[in-house]
Amino acid sequence: MNPLYRNDRPGHHAPSWYAASLPEAPPRPALTGAVAADVVILGAGFTGLWAALTLARAGRRVVVLEAHRVGFGASGRNGGQVQSGFNKPQSWLEAQLGQTRARALWDLSEAGKAQLRDFCAAHAPEAAFRPGGAHGEYNAADMDHLRAEVDHMARHYGAHAEILDRDALQRW
Ligand SMILES: Cc1cc2nc3c(=O)[nH]c(=O)nc-3n(C[C@H](O)[C@H](O)[C@H](O)COP(=O)(O)OP(=O)(O)OC[C@H]3O[C@@H](n4cnc5c(N)ncnc54)[C@H](O)[C@@H]3O)c2cc1C
Repeated sequence: MNPLYRNDRPGHHAPSWYAASLPEAPPRPALTGAVAADVVILGAGFTGLWAALTLARAGRRVVVLEAHRVGFGASGRNGGQVQSGFNKPQSWLEAQLGQTRARALWDLSEAGKAQLRDFCAAHAPEAAFRPGGAHGEYNAADMDHLRAEVDHMARHYGAHAEILDRDALQRW
């Protein structure tokens, strides 16, 4: 079996803190018959739901089709951290794409965070939105790279990150 799906039971959320602590979402009926829509979106994760919301607000008739449950995929089993940038260091993106495009990606991710913050304030205060997150390194050599990246981000992007040692990370 594909290890990606090892913990999955079709139609059930993966066992997680979310599944254990949140009230079960109502079942959504399966699509029957013919439905007319301007846009059909496959997948009710963050991407599909945000696209659906944006299109619906723009007056489009939208149908979201989800194979399992809303939030069945990565969106329902992630760390919930609202971090900056991407899962590659910004200096790596600069090396691959050049300064201008890397900066554009950074700005895009910052705009995404702002949208999420505003959405939670307006529609989901119970989410208790709090930006930020922790990134763990596995060995001393990686810590050297991390220090250089933190310095780079402070100098070129005005982004603040605090480096914690092992004990401080555990306390945090
Ligand atoms: C373990 C883990 C930890 C993470 N931690 C973080 C974090 O701390 N912070 C962060 O920002 N990001 C984190 N991420 C990344 C983040 O969760 C994903 O980038 C995001 O959830 C992707 O959303 P998505 O809507 O694109 O995909 P998904 O949430 O995976 O949604 C795709 C949906 O499409 C459905 N689907 C697939 N095929 C079909 C089909 N043919 N028809 C109908 N439906 C279909 C699936 O069932 C699923 O519900 C983490 C990811 C993982 C896996």
